[in-house]
Amino acid sequence: MEDLRCREFTDFLLAYLDGELDPRARAAFEEHLQACPPCRDYLDSYRRTVELVGTAWSPCGPDDAIPEDAPEELVHAVLEARRRA
Ligand SMILES: [Zn+2]
Repeated sequence: MEDLRCREFTDFLLAYLDGELDPRARAAFEEHLQACPPCRDYLDSYRRTVELVGTAWSPCGPDDAIPEDAPEELVHAVLEARRRA
């Protein structure tokens, strides 16, 4: 099993949450998650952001539904995921 770097980890994040990773990539992803607390935190805050945005955000709603302390890249990732959905 090759090593999964943090950078690749974030690239895989959306596919992982969408259940689109193949089993090998998924295993590598989860293995990295076990071994790398920063990525665990990243996934956590990503999920929280998705939840907050997912429940509070609507196409015609106010933009301020997105939490102000959410990292900008997370917000982008969330909005990107919505566009693809
Ligand atoms: Zn990592």
